[in-house]
Amino acid sequence: MPKGVFQIPYPVNEPVVGYEPGTPERESLHAMYLEMYEQEPIDIPMYIGGEEVRTNDKREVTPPHEHKKVIAHFNYGTSAHVEQAIEAALKARKNWAKMSWEHRASIFLKAADLLTTKYRDRMNAATMLGQSKTPHQAEIEAACEMADFFRFNAYYMQEIYEEQPDSAPGIWNRMEYRPLEGFVFGISPFNFTAIAANIPAAPAMMGNCVVWKPNDTQVYSAHVIMELFHEAGLPEGVINMVTVEGPDAGAVVFRHPEFAGLHFTGSTAVFKSLWKEIGQNIDLYKYYPRVVGETGGKDFLIAHHSAYPQQVATALVRGAFEYQGQKCSAASRAYIPSNMWDEVRSSMELDLKSMKMGAPDDFSNFLCAVIDRKAFDKITGYIEYAKNHADAEVIMGGNYDDAVGYFIEPTVILAKDPKFRTMVEEIFGPVLTIYVYDADHFEDTLHLVDETSEYGLTGAVFSRDRYAIEQATDILQNAAGNFYINDKPTGAVVGQQPFGGARGSGTNDKAGSYMNLLRWASARVIKENFVSPEDYRYPYMASE
Ligand code: NAD
Repeated sequence: MPKGVFQIPYPVNEPVVGYEPGTPERESLHAMYLEMYEQEPIDIPMYIGGEEVRTNDKREVTPPHEHKKVIAHFNYGTSAHVEQAIEAALKARKNWAKMSWEHRASIFLKAADLLTTKYRDRMNAATMLGQSKTPHQAEIEAACEMADFFRFNAYYMQEIYEEQPDSAPGIWNRMEYRPLEGFVFGISPFNFTAIAANIPAAPAMMGNCVVWKPNDTQVYSAHVIMELFHEAGLPEGVINMVTVEGPDAGAVVFRHPEFAGLHFTGSTAVFKSLWKEIGQNIDLYKYYPRVVGETGGKDFLIAHHSAYPQQVATALVRGAFEYQGQKCSAASRAYIPSNMWDEVRSSMELDLKSMKMGAPDDFSNFLCAVIDRKAFDKITGYIEYAKNHADAEVIMGGNYDDAVGYFIEPTVILAKDPKFRTMVEEIFGPVLTIYVYDADHFEDTLHLVDETSEYGLTGAVFSRDRYAIEQATDILQNAAGNFYINDKPTGAVVGQQPFGGARGSGTNDKAGSYMNLLRWASARVIKENFVSPEDYRYPYMASE
């Protein structure tokens, strides 16, 4: 038990390394990438209760930009492994839930410092190689955002613990923030290494033990995350990583009486199906499970006629195409006023012509490949749909090639119908659909933006007119959980723009904020009376 009121060091966002030509950081990252690329394929285990678990079902890991090259195998498990992971988590919980919070915090603060020093190149190179990210896209999240999650969450945990009820004369009221009883199930998406790490780390920091299932297409960096946790001193069984079919995991987890919470990031359809399953099994559980999910988006950018066209074009190009559009926050539908469309269009055409696409070890590339065959087929299906439809025209890009890697050109579709399919559905690839509206109809178009999709994740307005900005902020109040004024809708920074959306985009518990951490605690109020009454009679009952 602590014998001091400790203070977490005030967190500061991890500075982003630039990797400019001629710098030692660039040389070192490049060398690490080549080392990982050239070495014999590694064998990635599951991690259950401190054991490395291997099976006979070995699955290949191939870089999305070179799908014939095998860089690793990972060991596929079954529902029996999920059962073992739950047992390991429940066993570890006995000590972990009791450990005083400053020691839990220390482990993650240490993980942040290891990550930004010794592990920086490995985490970034693994993300570049396994998820096809450029050095910059890997650096901003796999190194910086992950470290920010660990440091800021430790600070928020302390702030939560400091939040205490009032007391009265003769009474001392206290609040303790217990971990949930049972275990937490973490499910993470492929697209951010930092999110993958935070899915199990946030509940674990609050004293919970976790069964974590990463996406199969992210296991290459997931195993570096497990090594980082281990080196930082995370006790065995606190975070258990299993690589199994989602439904195989769900079949065990969602029928377990000690299932205490789901920490999910991924697509809306999967999250809804899991919520249904949890609801159907509610009678099996000892506690009401906490259900936290950050899900899909159909993120918008609307320009007012007063905006600078060049700024709008740059925000669209970066917002739509960085990491091949595979960000939940990526700009994927835009509403451009007729007065500036020609200028925005020619600026985007120039940008797209100059953009290079290829493998991430060529640092001059702006785009790499999309994650896998399934994504490639889905995205190109949308492109073909637009090419063959009278209500739309593919005006930039539109070509693709999967001979070596899953490469898709940054593609812009011009929609005649503002509710054209690609204006409504999440595509999750380098495809932006634009609708040009009558510049005099800004207000009507704001309502259109609000009503077009089921999602409410991110959105942006560009304007120099403050009345227009105020109007957009008001009408689009529920259209985005992260709303940007004169900026692209991507690139949220921990501690600055807590991230998450509502409507079909999730429970909006804001990853990397105290709001998310609160979901992993169950408060107990302790009232202590210093002088206990010794007579049941109240004074008003006395005879006159
Ligand atoms: P996905 O939904 O395909 O997969 C997410 C995870 O769910 C994976 O680990 C997958 O294996 C697992 N899964 C799938 N079916 C399952 C089942 N039946 N039972 C248990 N687990 C199951 O998503 P993805 O392709 O990895 O990621 C992209 C999606 O995630 C996009 O929709 C994107 O918008 C969203 N996303 C949202 C945020 C956010 O903060 N809102 C952040 C990143 C990604």
